[in-house]
Amino acid sequence: MHRRDFLIASGLGLAAANHGVLNEGYCDATVAWSKDLADHRIVKFETFHSRDQYARSLGPNAKRGPHGAGYTRPFRIATTDQGARGIGMCWPKEDVIKPFVGAKLADLFDPSVGVTEEAHVLDYVLHDLAGVILGKPVYEMMGAHGPTEIDTYSGAIYMEDLMPKAKPRGVPAVLDACQMDYDSGYRSFKLKIGRARWMKQDEGDRRDIEVTRAVREKFPDCKILVDANDGYSVDRFLNYVTGVADCDLFWIEEPFVEHRNGLARLKDHMHKVGCKALIADGEARTGSAPKLWKWGEYEQKFIDRFFTLADEQLIDVCVFDIGTLGFTRWRKVMPILQETGIAAAPHLWGCTPKPLYCAHLAAGVGNVLIVEGIPGVGKNLDYSNFTIRNGNLCVPNLPGFGISRSDGAGIGLRKSAS
Ligand SMILES: [Mg+2]
Repeated sequence: MHRRDFLIASGLGLAAANHGVLNEGYCDATVAWSKDLADHRIVKFETFHSRDQYARSLGPNAKRGPHGAGYTRPFRIATTDQGARGIGMCWPKEDVIKPFVGAKLADLFDPSVGVTEEAHVLDYVLHDLAGVILGKPVYEMMGAHGPTEIDTYSGAIYMEDLMPKAKPRGVPAVLDACQMDYDSGYRSFKLKIGRARWMKQDEGDRRDIEVTRAVREKFPDCKILVDANDGYSVDRFLNYVTGVADCDLFWIEEPFVEHRNGLARLKDHMHKVGCKALIADGEARTGSAPKLWKWGEYEQKFIDRFFTLADEQLIDVCVFDIGTLGFTRWRKVMPILQETGIAAAPHLWGCTPKPLYCAHLAAGVGNVLIVEGIPGVGKNLDYSNFTIRNGNLCVPNLPGFGISRSDGAGIGLRKSAS
């Protein structure tokens, strides 16, 4: 099936009318919404911190040693002169935020676009604030072009077999991690591969195959994604594909540093051995753009290379990072990806609120194939308006993002049996 046809068949596609030319009803609504926002002026910001608590402490991937159990990050609550409050993840220091006190919301945010360039640091905060004022979920404010129940995978299946270092538990540890996330509602797992980084090369490559096959055998009803974090050579990766050809992989992410010949050989080999996985790429970058532009912090040459490979159908799924690009910019560039026939699955490891932001993006602009999941909670945050059901992340029909503050250990996603 041609990739564009695949996207349409998957229900990912924005309808043509939603693409570039927004439908009339939505345009009328955004004009009215902008007027409602015009009455509000930001009068203060409050800061609080949230520390993630992943479902378990995580082992290494092909790039870095053990990943631990989560990080701390700042959130801001913006309050307007009308008493409306919006909450969102927001990294910059106080002196960067302070100048926005006194600003009119309508000067910083347009529901049909997102934040202005100058207000990009408030991306999540202002999307939430505007949604709260309008009484609309963020996805609806973005046009509601995608489904509100989106496939999600556990992105937390690291190399647990290598831990603890003194007495590694072996393959059963990976199966236990999958089981834990299965019990939380996930039905797709992304396995970190590239164990040659930590083992003798042959042993590591063999273990990657062994782990993949073991997960397939134990979870026959689940999707398996694999992510090598560019840790393989082309030749070694072709051997891996041969070893797992009958495992029905859903996607292969960053097998090696992307280049035309390598990806062409990989696609050719996959075809020969009957591996139908999608190729996901575009997360890792080596440099930063001299200043923020349409593609956020990504360099022009990185973007150019990505689209050259995508045009040749050597990459199927774009995993640009949600933070490196930015939420508003994701809204803007999604139609470009779709025009190229590329599905999106923004990389978002490792902040637990990010999958929820990404789910709104998926429901709002469409074209998101699957959402990376981070099993766990964020201290002082309540995610329980979001549900995980049949392996899908369900976005709540509530004003703003539907993430609220909750002093204490944090409240996770609600699991629903059906
Ligand atoms: Mg990755």
